Amino acid sequence: MIIIKLGGAAITDKTRLSVIKRRTIASAARVLAKHRDYIIVHGAGSFGHIPVDKYSLKGPIRTERQLIGYAKTKASLLKLETELVSILSKNRIPVAPVAASSCLMADHGRIVSQSFDTVASMLKLGLVPCIGGDLVQDISLGASVVSGDQIAVNLAIEFHADTIIFGTDVDGLFTANPKLDHKANLISTLGSVGLKEWAEKAGAANVPDASGGMRGKLTEILPAVRAGIKVIIINLNNPQRLQAALDGKAVKGTIILN
Ligand code: ADP
Repeated sequence: MIIIKLGGAAITDKTRLSVIKRRTIASAARVLAKHRDYIIVHGAGSFGHIPVDKYSLKGPIRTERQLIGYAKTKASLLKLETELVSILSKNRIPVAPVAASSCLMADHGRIVSQSFDTVASMLKLGLVPCIGGDLVQDISLGASVVSGDQIAVNLAIEFHADTIIFGTDVDGLFTANPKLDHKANLISTLGSVGLKEWAEKAGAANVPDASGGMRGKLTEILPAVRAGIKVIIINLNNPQRLQAALDGKAVKGTIILN
């Protein structure tokens, strides 16, 4: 069993509201169509982050404006889901969309309960469940954002996956943000100790900048790696790398093992 995370940065333009990278999704879909026994998890990208910021949906949900914002964010997330499922199914992937908010509860944005019976049943039937980062019910905040990264790790542990492939818009984890520092070097392999160090370093000031999306990802990945799951971060813009990662072959990216 493999968990494939289609990163929000890879499948949407994170800086512009509701811009989908259809070509990237389609080229990944053509590779995925040749495989079975995997779950697709995806980020929300600009379909989620922009309305979440606009309607202040990170803190406790208290106001009417936030409730309307919640509904508008859901509409935006559903738009992404519809496009994604349409592209995946056109490429002959028997995809089954699953709403994270229907199977998870959170506390301050951390998953505290989950029920993946439907996902298990879909897998048994030969479907490919597809579940995205979402606004879920939260026992302290009313509702909160649960990232695709967190969901990917929980699913991997629940279904005893051997590998999680994180597809994003850069080649892997670098010594600094490769979009800002052209001298940044790709870290091709990492153990759990190195992973922990990078996740912590990234939080401190005046150190190589692995903040932005990558920092959160490293912190989320830790429990999966400690559970013995192999984690691969690759650039989703290159379908050959996805193919190699799925085939268990050597691939350009960051491989993280316990
Ligand atoms: P996704 O949405 O695809 O899951 P994120 O946006 O969460 O991906 O994280 C990927 C982004 O993290 C990249 O676009 C990159 O600019 C940024 N980033 C920051 N620091 C680093 C780093 N040290 N190595 C790689 N990427 C980094």
